[in-house]
Amino acid sequence: MLAKVEKKRPLSRYLKDFKHTQTHCCQCGKPLDRMTLVFRGQIINKEAIAGMDQLVDDAVWLTLSQELTALCRFCSVISCDSATNYFDIKAFKQYLFEQTAMSHSTIREYVVRLRRLDEILATCNYPHDKFSQPSGSLSLIEDVPDAGRSNYRIALRKYDQYLNWQRNF
Ligand SMILES: [Zn+2]
Repeated sequence: MLAKVEKKRPLSRYLKDFKHTQTHCCQCGKPLDRMTLVFRGQIINKEAIAGMDQLVDDAVWLTLSQELTALCRFCSVISCDSATNYFDIKAFKQYLFEQTAMSHSTIREYVVRLRRLDEILATCNYPHDKFSQPSGSLSLIEDVPDAGRSNYRIALRKYDQYLNWQRNF
């Protein structure tokens, strides 16, 4: 009997093949037009893929590919961007996605606003304990001038709805 020869191929080839087999976003199930490959929570871009020339065999690839996901742009932005300090953006997005009939672009808009607001809070070192009180977002509007702007107000109200929903869950 002939010993099975382990064929090795560059990792980049495996990744490119993987990309071609993905048709829908792993997270929201939307058909993919522009996809983002995410490995262990990190986005890997085209340039990075091109540089992955280490030789691997099918067994190694199989292990690696279990931690690989293909996401649409929308989901990749929300899942992989830098962690937020105050708002639980990921859970909030999931809530909007599952509990409301909002379009992707509207959800994205809310998420972007809260992200900006989160940065503002982090910049001015807003106390976390004050934020996590039930009236947190109200005091926020009083304490942080920028938070009172109407686009942030709307996003905060929506976030409040999410918090209430979560409390009653
Ligand atoms: Zn998606």
